[in-house]
Amino acid sequence: MLNISCTYCRAPINLSDGDLAQAVHEAGDKRPKTTHVTCPSCRRTNKVPFDRVRQAYRMAGSPPPPEEEAPTVEGEAAA
Ligand SMILES: [Zn+2]
Repeated sequence: MLNISCTYCRAPINLSDGDLAQAVHEAGDKRPKTTHVTCPSCRRTNKVPFDRVRQAYRMAGSPPPPEEEAPTVEGEAAA
């Protein structure tokens, strides 16, 4: 779990362990600087340092990524 605040509207954004797993899994060996998170309140894209995501993921025990569940990370959230 990683809690951040939206850069634009200050709304809290909670990334579940599954979201973190998805982001880390999708990044693979690319080691991106940031990952994109869509604010549930204003729908704008926040850039979150990937190190924070990875650190939170490790603290969560590095769970496997969810199968076929719409993530809130990396956009494309189903409507
Ligand atoms: Zn926002």
